Amino acid sequence: MVAASYRLPVKDELGFCNVFLSALGGDGANMAGKLLFKIGCKMFGLDGGFDARYGSEKKGTATDVSVRFCEVGTPVRQSGPTRRPNYLVVFHDDLITPLDLGRGLHDGAVCIVNTIQPPSEIRKLLRLHSGKIICLDATKIAVQTRSRLNMPLVGVLCHEIGFPDEQITKVIADQWPKAAEANLAAYAAAIEHLETETFDADDRFPLTEPTSIYGPIGWRNMLNGGTIDAIKFTTINRDNRIAGRGHVPKFDAAACNSCGICLTVCSDPGGLLWRQGRMEGIDPLFCKGCMRCVEVCPETKKGKALTTDYA
Ligand code: SF4
Ligand code: SF4
Repeated sequence: MVAASYRLPVKDELGFCNVFLSALGGDGANMAGKLLFKIGCKMFGLDGGFDARYGSEKKGTATDVSVRFCEVGTPVRQSGPTRRPNYLVVFHDDLITPLDLGRGLHDGAVCIVNTIQPPSEIRKLLRLHSGKIICLDATKIAVQTRSRLNMPLVGVLCHEIGFPDEQITKVIADQWPKAAEANLAAYAAAIEHLETETFDADDRFPLTEPTSIYGPIGWRNMLNGGTIDAIKFTTINRDNRIAGRGHVPKFDAAACNSCGICLTVCSDPGGLLWRQGRMEGIDPLFCKGCMRCVEVCPETKKGKALTTDYA
């Protein structure tokens, strides 16, 4: 059912409301973006575009997802990543600086960040000219509600875009019926545990033009037959180890029975150190701190081998 009364809260000069989600492989940003796009088009009668870039999730590669919403009838002529977001969702605050996520943000942008830092600190990291910063500890919410990191963040995003909570919660419950209770708990907790601050324009942080690492790819620089120059546009130098952020589960070797269940849920098995059939610990260079392994690690007579301060 389409809610005819819905209006986009903000539009750029081409008539688009641009959303950019920045995450690590395995965080569920792609699923969150798809859900957002489906909700916007099916329930609120919007049109637009969707784009996702990701590498091997097993290496914790930085990924990003762009959603462009517009009213039906607006010409949709752009594809690829959004370079000037009105809404920015950051799945880990330590992606901000290496990925320069503040660059290209619109005046008055809304930034939703998974962090334990206050909005004032995140503003400095983003160098946000003006706009709203919403901080929440989405990792903690996901662990405590047994949901996933993407759920609290997409919940807050839908809320900010003005999609009514009751309609969003119904979509979430219908989409994942078995996980409905956990996901709805994460959604509710996220809306409840926000820290929000709005910032006026500040000359210390001027508006910046977006940059593209590789520049535009089009007919001018394509090789014969439409081939892209692999040498010029290679992604081989991208930092796949950006996931090494230090926030990892605690491991107690004495409580571990090497059952291997943690391996079945880890989206970056390089994060789990195994030698000769035995679990030996967590590699902070690869672990992205999703805490899924903590959830499934069984309670043995000596306790749980994997724990977190959140649980
Ligand atoms: S799930 Fe827990 S007990 Fe099993 S191997 Fe992993 S750390 Fe050890
Ligand atoms: S080791 Fe655990 S916390 Fe780290 S990425 Fe794997 S499942 Fe997530």
